Amino acid sequence: MNLLEKLKERTILFDGAIGTVLMESGHVASRSPILLNSQQPDIVADLHRQYYDAGSDVAASNTFGGNPVKLAAEGLEQQMESLNRAGVRLTRAACPAGRLVAGDMGPCGKMLEPLGDISLEEMQYNFFRQAGVLIDAGVDLIAIETMYSLQEALAAVHGVRQAGDILLLASMTFNQTPNGFFTMMGEDIARCTSALEAAGVDMIGANCTLNSAHSVGLTTKLRAATVKPILIQPNAGQPVTRRGVTRYEQSPAEFAADAIRIKDAGADMIGGCCGTTPEFIREVAVMLAGE
Ligand SMILES: [Zn+2]
Repeated sequence: MNLLEKLKERTILFDGAIGTVLMESGHVASRSPILLNSQQPDIVADLHRQYYDAGSDVAASNTFGGNPVKLAAEGLEQQMESLNRAGVRLTRAACPAGRLVAGDMGPCGKMLEPLGDISLEEMQYNFFRQAGVLIDAGVDLIAIETMYSLQEALAAVHGVRQAGDILLLASMTFNQTPNGFFTMMGEDIARCTSALEAAGVDMIGANCTLNSAHSVGLTTKLRAATVKPILIQPNAGQPVTRRGVTRYEQSPAEFAADAIRIKDAGADMIGGCCGTTPEFIREVAVMLAGE
């Protein structure tokens, strides 16, 4: 499937959450869902399979936490290559013909100097290292996600571009304020889109933090700010923990109804972030098919 061609014909469906599903399944003792790629690979592959069965055109590898800097902070640096490689292998094993595998890349977990203790150069180098493994393992595209800092997103984009020629999506995380939508570092939508376009991304996204209802307004603004294809992946509301069980506020039906509004606001691609499950994606697929 040629993603850039296909999204001109119809709305492309991504997958839902990986990390929150794996963590709530009780399989992850630590905060490193990526470890399951080696410890319980069947659970990871089964989740990918459920997303493709639900209708996902694209599913992302369980490599969100696979940045070498992040892994080093958890004492897992030695497994950087094997965990990322296994993540791609498990997604590919579940991927039906004609669907796609995205190599997922999340933040490195450290703040840039002078707020934090990592240099821009070191940050970019570590994104380059992870991207090199994902590309070599055979992903169809790279999805940089949950970026709350434009500088870090750009370091990731440059790192990927340095690693190879591959279809590239960069997705920012915005908060809603009375003055509009801003990243945690205070960048607005227009600043993010112009910088990402200049850096050479193929697609621009927004994911996490906002629920599906709030993402409708975000989509309108993002659509107005860029001509690139856009992907919107809302959370299923906020997590609510009662008696040790975490649930998210929104139902799959509510989320799917908003997904149609998100599509109508100009999204080319839709998926889900924290709290969404294969059931959410299935509901969205049904709604899109009924349009
Ligand atoms: Zn999220």
